[in-house]
Amino acid sequence: MAATILDGKALAQARRAQIQEEVARFRAETGIPPGLAVVLVGDDPASRIYVRNKERACQAVGIASEQHHLPSSTSQAQLLSLIDRLNRDPRIHGILVQLPLPPHIDERAVIEAIHPAKDVDGFHPANVARLVLNQEGLRPCTPAGILALLDHAGVPLAGTEAVVVGRSNIVGKPLAMMLLHRDATVTLCHSRTRDLAAVCRRADLVVAAVGRAELIRGDWIKPGAAVIDVGINRQPDGSLKGDVAFDEAVQVAGAITPVPGGVGPMTITMLLENTLQAARQLAAGPSEATR
Ligand code: NDP
Repeated sequence: MAATILDGKALAQARRAQIQEEVARFRAETGIPPGLAVVLVGDDPASRIYVRNKERACQAVGIASEQHHLPSSTSQAQLLSLIDRLNRDPRIHGILVQLPLPPHIDERAVIEAIHPAKDVDGFHPANVARLVLNQEGLRPCTPAGILALLDHAGVPLAGTEAVVVGRSNIVGKPLAMMLLHRDATVTLCHSRTRDLAAVCRRADLVVAAVGRAELIRGDWIKPGAAVIDVGINRQPDGSLKGDVAFDEAVQVAGAITPVPGGVGPMTITMLLENTLQAARQLAAGPSEATR
């Protein structure tokens, strides 16, 4: 029997309608909308598309987004000075610096310059530490979106075997930690993992965040397992493929995300949720999460 399709697009739409209502309530209570500053340095075409999509999503729910598009010649000092200004701007509750940055700018210094209370990507070391310690804080958007999808579909996590393929700081590592906090038994795989197929075969949940089209085959999936495909791999004909061979895996899995229309729309939705969460925390005054 073919798997249930985990429709990220539909869930994202429903969540965005809720966020829109909550944004309106925040605005009525505080007199200002939640504000997101999006900083783009240079002209990377993919980054321009991501930034535009984020801006549109903000507009649709009533979040005030302000774009700072800087030339690729911008110095690190200039970028840090902009971040400092945004950190102190009371109308701005979230700051997102689109990665990658040009090679002459130290990404780490930039991420660390963002105030943790405004770090809506959840990449600041203070927020990473809060995630590891299971304390309240801003969580990275892609893993948060994956958990929202799994919870919405009622996929059980406690006591299950979860295999995450890919150990990046933005997807694999934070997701592994979130699944651990939900009492899954987590295996985190990478390019040096021996016999990846065998590791995947024992999983009740497989998450692929690798960036290699159709690496995960249908016969790597345990019958009935949930499969989350984070991969976005542009093909020569312009189409998108995930990291999972969908046509094969859909025959075996219990539930599976499509590409596109699975994890992608949830990622932007979580950015909106994080901006709202940051705005609420900042409006409530200093707390554990905003110090
Ligand atoms: P990275 O390139 O940062 O990390 C890729 C990971 O995959 C690394 O840990 C690497 O291992 C591992 N890997 C590479 N080849 C293999 C292999 N043959 N077997 C097992 N593991 C392997 O990727 P990201 O996490 O940034 O992104 C992963 C994918 O997800 C990309 O396609 C990206 O476009 C997509 N993405 C989608 C998002 C969405 O919203 N839908 C958001 C973010 C990313 P090692 O560490 O050993 O090198």
